[in-house]
Amino acid sequence: MTPAPPSGRLTVITGPSGVGKGTLVARLLDRHPAIWLSVSATTRAPRPGDVDGVHYFFLERHQFERQVQDGGFLEWAAFAGNLYGTPRAPVEARLSAGRPVILEIELEGARQVRSSFPQAQQLFIAPPSLSVLEQRIRGRGTDTEAAILRRLERARVELEAAEEFDAILVNDNLEEALVALEAQMGLAPA
Ligand code: ADP
Ligand code: 5GP
Repeated sequence: MTPAPPSGRLTVITGPSGVGKGTLVARLLDRHPAIWLSVSATTRAPRPGDVDGVHYFFLERHQFERQVQDGGFLEWAAFAGNLYGTPRAPVEARLSAGRPVILEIELEGARQVRSSFPQAQQLFIAPPSLSVLEQRIRGRGTDTEAAILRRLERARVELEAAEEFDAILVNDNLEEALVALEAQMGLAPA
């Protein structure tokens, strides 16, 4: 019998915009370089500091729609007026090479992955409160007032769905949240 091919663990990280997912995941990758973070495609405009191909693949809407039609996304969703999707091939390549993979995606995408990859671990990052979340989004200083309001409205919906996840981690103190994330993922603290 041929042995089963190596298969890395897939972890989905979801939580409202501004809760600190990007910050937490960046620290996690610093500490555990074997983990591979999927680079999503999006139709949103780059923010200052966003690098094409590093933070996102920035696509025109018609390019994104073509990739949807071609089955090129593992999941995709509309969020706050833009489209976001996980390119399928790079994720499948890393998983079959045995690497742990993280997807940092919003709720609808997490739900799609739950049906296509039921074995994936699904973690939800929650803020200590809605007012702290609002302070963080505003403090980041990257979104227009209209975008901030859309993100806060969406945050309420996402927070109501937190119980669907395998675990809820509150990002109050960053270091403590990071240690909790490592524990959930079964990683020894670095
Ligand atoms: P997300 O990726 O979830 O949209 P970010 O990682 O961009 O969120 O974080 C939003 C803002 O909150 C950033 O300015 C970040 O520095 C800040 N932040 C993240 N985690 C914490 C924390 N535990 N305490 C205070 N500020 C935080
Ligand atoms: P932002 O515009 O702040 O970078 O991201 C907005 C939201 O889109 C965040 O909740 C983020 O997790 C989510 N997101 C980023 N990439 C993807 C993706 O590939 N698929 C889905 N469904 N959501 C994504």
